[in-house]
Amino acid sequence: MANQLDANRPLRVAVIGSGPSGIYAAEALIKQSAVPVLVDVFDRLPTPYGLVRYGVAPDHQTIKSVTKAMQKVLQDPRVRFFGNVAYGRDLTHADLRRHYDALVYAVGASSDRHLGIPGEELPGSLSATEFVAWYNGHPDYQHLPIRLDAQGVAVVGMGNVAVDVTRILAKSADELSQTDIADHALPVLAESRVTDIFMLGRRGPAQAKFTTKELRELGELHNADVLVRPEELELDEKSAAAIADQPAMLKNLEILREFASRPPAGKPRRVHIRFLVSPVAILGEGRVQRIRLEKNRLDENLNAVGTGVFEELEVGMVLRSVGYKGVPLPEVPFDERKGIIPNQGGRVLREGQVAPGEYAAGWIKRGPSGVIGTNKADAAETVRLLLEDAPSLPLAPEPDPQAVTRLLQERGVQAVGLDHWLRLDALECTQGQAQGRPRVKVTSVAKMLELAQP
Ligand code: NAP
Repeated sequence: MANQLDANRPLRVAVIGSGPSGIYAAEALIKQSAVPVLVDVFDRLPTPYGLVRYGVAPDHQTIKSVTKAMQKVLQDPRVRFFGNVAYGRDLTHADLRRHYDALVYAVGASSDRHLGIPGEELPGSLSATEFVAWYNGHPDYQHLPIRLDAQGVAVVGMGNVAVDVTRILAKSADELSQTDIADHALPVLAESRVTDIFMLGRRGPAQAKFTTKELRELGELHNADVLVRPEELELDEKSAAAIADQPAMLKNLEILREFASRPPAGKPRRVHIRFLVSPVAILGEGRVQRIRLEKNRLDENLNAVGTGVFEELEVGMVLRSVGYKGVPLPEVPFDERKGIIPNQGGRVLREGQVAPGEYAAGWIKRGPSGVIGTNKADAAETVRLLLEDAPSLPLAPEPDPQAVTRLLQERGVQAVGLDHWLRLDALECTQGQAQGRPRVKVTSVAKMLELAQP
């Protein structure tokens, strides 16, 4: 028999994670009227918006304006925000199943991939995702010991994250001080001795993952010249054929060729965009001092193959920017190889079978790809299936919205509601205004909790 869901017994949905995919899932749930819903959005941090706050570059404020629409979703009377509530720590899988008819895991991909080369564990070798979290004021990374006391930095990878960290390293303190970059990062970047940033792509320009807008920005830096070797832009036949009908890739190539033709303007810093080189070892005594690269060629499948020709670059830091990676959640199936929750269009699979009432959205569903907006369609697909399943889902025994609030209180969990967050948000923005910045981020959870109090 189909479930009788109505205004008195709406479908209770818990969304785990308040980044783009979680909020877009909540939005898709409230934008339909076929099934009455009440949605609770949980985040382990007191602040919502996930990578919009902690991933998007501080000098890309226009991208962050997407939070206005996200805030509207959280302000809907059918949605509640529970910040500072961690899945697995404050609420277990069993707790959620007792209070909710459907769970949507939208936790993103909080770890990163490794290179698997000698020296990767040396101090000074870290992931770009950690570096990004550090300068964006993520509470877990505020104490990262970042040293920018050598002239060279290697950034491994040719995606937009690599471009972001390269740009932040290339910008001057004056430029950065107008952003919402974390207060602990600004003095370190202001005193940076970095002059040469090497972006290292293992394949050619036709395989680079960055988008045109981001690439173009590297050529517009006030503080840094962009240097490209013309010989590294020469395409093999297969690469040329592969991008012949791809306007965005052709545009990237055109921009790179223009970069290669520029005489250096003698700016204080240099961004070197290098292709067809793979790091094979990170070297140094006690910390990173050099990186050894092997020159590559592309095989018939356009994979990078070493040529046995090596070179070394003097660098004091190596940022691997080779992709984010999902992390397993307690009691939730996980595909180690893909770094995602196994799923079919968002329906979670347990041992190959659809697990009723469990769903995934965003990077933990499809892997770390696409831009913020990609998560809208992704979450909408998941929610479409969830709503299709709603009439036949096993209903939660304790759906009363107050029951979960009581449970958190009993456990001494200091949940941060939307009103708390809005207070903290306003404080950050007011403090920022006084300094001509969009906001000054609070980076300690304890401080956030204190300031969020009425
Ligand atoms: P990405 O776009 O997947 O790029 C990863 C890069 O790492 C690729 O160039 C890849 O090269 C390289 N790589 C992987 N393994 C490697 C290895 N072992 N050795 C050397 N290189 C290796 O990932 P991302 O930059 O982390 O970005 C994640 C997502 O966020 C992307 O969809 C991105 O567009 C998005 N994002 C968007 C913005 C923006 O819109 N402004 C900003 C940041 C991030 P191969 O191609 O050879 O594998």
